[in-house]
Amino acid sequence: MGNYFKAIYNGIGTALVGMGVTWRHLWGKKVTIQYPTQTKPRFGRSRDRLYVNIEDCIGCDQCAKACPVDCIYIETIKAAPGVDLGQTSTGHKKRLHVSVFDIDFAKCCYCGLCVYPCPTVCITMTDVFEFSEYERRNLLYHFSAMTAEEVARAKQEAERAEAEKARKKAEAAAAAKAKKEAEAAAAAPSKEEAGQSHVQAPGTGTPPGSKPAPGTTSTGDADAAENQESKPGDETSDPGTGTS
Ligand code: SF4
Ligand code: SF4
Repeated sequence: MGNYFKAIYNGIGTALVGMGVTWRHLWGKKVTIQYPTQTKPRFGRSRDRLYVNIEDCIGCDQCAKACPVDCIYIETIKAAPGVDLGQTSTGHKKRLHVSVFDIDFAKCCYCGLCVYPCPTVCITMTDVFEFSEYERRNLLYHFSAMTAEEVARAKQEAERAEAEKARKKAEAAAAAKAKKEAEAAAAAPSKEEAGQSHVQAPGTGTPPGSKPAPGTTSTGDADAAENQESKPGDETSDPGTGTS
């Protein structure tokens, strides 16, 4: 029975304490707001949804490489020769069509690491944080401004330019090869001629180890024969036969 009245006493006491807190805040400064009709200003360095100014994007892929969760998907097409894509607001020349620039905000962890390496400062963090979706696929944001027709045309131009470049390269290689062959062919007969003139030149002697041409006598042989004939007291020679 005592516990019963003690519980009633504790209940009334707790209610009075709570009502005292409410009474004090009733007249104090208000800290609650009527969200979502009312919102508080965000901090200046809030890291919320990303924004990409695609007009200033040069497709360098730095942001995608910096992303730790690989949620930035970029595809580019090289601009064909003669196609001027202009410049960014920071003065960088644009050389690539950015055909795909998607960010999957379902995977993004809002670390902001993609923002810092961007050379044209075109990917930035905004203070937009209310973008929940019922469908997960709706969190894949597409930032590229190119239509399917523009992408197809840019690809065709790039392929044509690549083919032209490959053709010119092959032609240059073939021309270089032909020139080399012609030079080699021109050099070959002059070598043969040089070899023949070396053997047949009068008074030049026979190269060591080579046979003299029929009907000819080398200077060395003639000298040897002369020495043999004039050698006094040579007992091996036969004056009758002339043989040795
Ligand atoms: S904020 Fe972080 S996770 Fe999100 S896209 Fe940038 S680098 Fe990737
Ligand atoms: S770093 Fe900047 S310029 Fe390079 S692809 Fe990313 S958004 Fe574009």
